[in-house]
Amino acid sequence: MGRHINKVKTHPSDTISHMSLEHYSDLFKAFASDGFVSRSGLMRIFEESGILDDDPRAKKIIAAINKSEDKISEEAFHAIVDLSPTLFEQVLDGSLVIPHFKTFCAELTTIFDEINENRGGTLPTYIPQLERVDPDKFGFSICTVDGQRFSIGDSDEYFCVQSCSKPITYCIALEEVGESTLHQYVGREPSGKTFNDLTLNSWGLPHNPMINAGAIMCGALIKRKSPSDRFDFVMEKWKEAAGGAKIGFNNAVYLSERQTADRNFALGYFMREKKAFPPDVELLDVLEFYFQCCSIDITTKGMATIAATLANGGTCPLTGAQVFRPDHVKHCLSLMLSCGMYDFSGEFAFVVGVPAKSGVSGAVLLVVPNVCGMAIWSPRLDELGNSVRGVEFCKRIVSKFKFHAFDSMLGLRDNRIDPRRDLYEARLSGAFAFCWAAAQGDVAEMRRLVARGVSPTASDYDGRTALHLAASEAQFEALRYLLQLSKDVNPLDRWGNTPLDDAIRCGHATIVSLLKEYGAKSQSELPKDADASKV
Ligand code: GLU
Repeated sequence: MGRHINKVKTHPSDTISHMSLEHYSDLFKAFASDGFVSRSGLMRIFEESGILDDDPRAKKIIAAINKSEDKISEEAFHAIVDLSPTLFEQVLDGSLVIPHFKTFCAELTTIFDEINENRGGTLPTYIPQLERVDPDKFGFSICTVDGQRFSIGDSDEYFCVQSCSKPITYCIALEEVGESTLHQYVGREPSGKTFNDLTLNSWGLPHNPMINAGAIMCGALIKRKSPSDRFDFVMEKWKEAAGGAKIGFNNAVYLSERQTADRNFALGYFMREKKAFPPDVELLDVLEFYFQCCSIDITTKGMATIAATLANGGTCPLTGAQVFRPDHVKHCLSLMLSCGMYDFSGEFAFVVGVPAKSGVSGAVLLVVPNVCGMAIWSPRLDELGNSVRGVEFCKRIVSKFKFHAFDSMLGLRDNRIDPRRDLYEARLSGAFAFCWAAAQGDVAEMRRLVARGVSPTASDYDGRTALHLAASEAQFEALRYLLQLSKDVNPLDRWGNTPLDDAIRCGHATIVSLLKEYGAKSQSELPKDADASKV
């Protein structure tokens, strides 16, 4: 959809967007009846779009709508739009990244309710504090790159992020030292072992930033005057990525981590023995910092916004703040896809095909690039340390929606939902292209479209098929191709015309002969129950 926004800069820090006045009126007319726009109708559009009233971009608009008269005049409407023209236009013209958000969320709710019955898995025992969590907790949140949000279940409850901290630590370290320096100290290969396995790669370095050794190393590359300054800085980054959501710190988990971290201490000393660290690193400070990052507390709502910031190339959808560079996010998503799910990463990349990171608190952070971020929290883990319900949720999402990185290979043969496309666009785009190719006599394109799964008998909203178009436009070769493909050579359009009716009406004698060769009839020759209303 075009943007009718003339960006008027009054001074560097303040961009006021003004829509052209006629576009304000067009928007008003699209939703007005009897000269007014209904306040409740406008509120419902916002609610169903997933733009919530705590969205910093929408607060003023939603408050203004709430304070409006039940019937909003055009002048009052213009004043509301002016508060945030771009967002307002996106919500009203359905150009948010998931246009039918309410329908999409209903599908997510069905998946959530079904998975909620799953009681498989066990709580982790090696960090005592994690063993005391209610195993039945289950929360889910989503945030799109346009800031559309939805949550269900225990989405307001805080949990510790554990290894879901690793992608953020990695991105922060990239911002600090850059990709070439960072990867002199950390590899980019899956380890093929457990997340805390006492192994380094053949250069004596951690295999990748998504396992314990790699995260400890990335932490060592984030330097500040003191450990407290460093932690404050990292917490600010988390809050920025979460769009201002409250980020906590679970001191009990931190103490529990530290008391039971022999393996992590061993990894630290092993890396120091191999001289893997950069110069003048205080190993104990670095390990403490790692435990602190794992003990950051968050809700699925906050974590979904962070995932959406990654999905949005490092810019927070709710605030517009650029938290990470897009190229750094690209590196992070690559490593989440190849290494994010422990030893299940290969299978996860094959089946789900979406960058993800899990944590032993039962958290899963999922990133659908340029679409949305999701967060799932359910504490019971499988034998590889991933949340049972979390992994199941991810599998169900990609079995329902075209989110897998390589789904585009399936073309139109794929009947799953692409929530990014208009409900009707996906269905019509193939049919429209096929009919257009037939009308042009472009048999090569027709063959390509059939190969991609477009049905040769697909019709538009008037029941006009490629057969009708080829007959009307006297496209002999296209018609012959269609007649060989089609079982029904007498489809009826909305007005009861068959392709033969069209050819006769247009006076195409050779087309009439060809159609009759294949048994085509005009409507008058068809049995009386042939009904155009079946279109
Ligand atoms: N703090 C945990 C550890 O170091 C993190 C493990 C995880 O979530 O994968 O073992």
